[in-house]
Amino acid sequence: MESQKPRRQEQESAREEVTEVAKDVLRMELPISMPGLGHVNCYALLDSEGAALVDPGLPTASSFAALRSRLSQAGLAVKDCHTVVVTHSHPDHFGGASRVLEESGGKLIAHNSFHMGMGAPEKPEVSVDDLHAHEDSEAGRTPEPESERAKARAPFTPSSSGFSGKTPWGGEKPRPPFKMRMRWGLMRMLGKAMRFPTITHPALGGDVLRLAGREFFVVHTPGHTEDHICLHDPAEEVFLAGDHVLPSITPHISGLTLDADPLKAFFDSLDRAAALEHVGQVLPAHGHPFQDLAARCIAIKEHHDDRLEQVRDIARELGPANVEAFMKRLFKERSWGGMAESETYAHLEHLRLMGNAERHTDGAKQFIYTL
Ligand SMILES: [Zn+2]
Ligand SMILES: [Zn+2]
Repeated sequence: MESQKPRRQEQESAREEVTEVAKDVLRMELPISMPGLGHVNCYALLDSEGAALVDPGLPTASSFAALRSRLSQAGLAVKDCHTVVVTHSHPDHFGGASRVLEESGGKLIAHNSFHMGMGAPEKPEVSVDDLHAHEDSEAGRTPEPESERAKARAPFTPSSSGFSGKTPWGGEKPRPPFKMRMRWGLMRMLGKAMRFPTITHPALGGDVLRLAGREFFVVHTPGHTEDHICLHDPAEEVFLAGDHVLPSITPHISGLTLDADPLKAFFDSLDRAAALEHVGQVLPAHGHPFQDLAARCIAIKEHHDDRLEQVRDIARELGPANVEAFMKRLFKERSWGGMAESETYAHLEHLRLMGNAERHTDGAKQFIYTL
């Protein structure tokens, strides 16, 4: 029998216990079941007025019930949450904000460019490689009973654009496997029930937020999404990383964004985070707290550098080729599809914009890349 691969820490189910992970900062794990992920960390930053919540989870009733019970363990009620900060526009991060603020009447802080991107055809959280690492770890595992995690199942941002039409690089939008389409359908239904929050306090990089009775700097870190922010408290050396830097997986970098070179934006944001002084404890949105922020940033960059090198090798072998051809050489067959094409496209465009590749459009209106 095939031995079962261990779960990565980001894939672990949400635990009920609430832990103090930095001075006046509580970690509360909320249930999600998105491909590649098992929980999202909501952090409560405590002060004399109550608490500010960072990333209050999905918009589901079960996630909200979990949040309420975690808060009560800490002697808090939802009405005490005077502030919600959202690190970026993915539903497991902003989804719970409306419910919290309806009860507390508090304010909502997110980056100035925060947008829901309902038209985006796909908004996965983790890279294609990590998605498969998750599937491998789940293979042969007995399904859990109908837990709060299962009830909070909500894989992707709802998509209104469907699965037909052309991608920017001229391929047909590939039809995802049946299971995935079912999940998307579920998510679309959920989307109708999702109340989109109004950002009352748009923030910019460099802004100072008063949280947990002290000052946190907003660090704008585009890449995973254009509106991603991290929070840095140099006095207590705490860094809230969102999805920008996760302990053992790499976030999905989509080629389908308004940014011409999302990979370059991500690299710059990793450099910005790695260069910060006075960072001790790193608090990610998935997985456990960790310490060496700079080392993790470098490791993630190396992962993408390896991939860029692979793309260069493939270009040397193939000669002029379209995105699909590169994608099929870069990924194993089980990963082929829109998400893998989107990651491939992001890497090809990065090489092109750095002056290492050329692009032209062929008769079939497809992008053709040459080294
Ligand atoms: Zn995300
Ligand atoms: Zn996330």
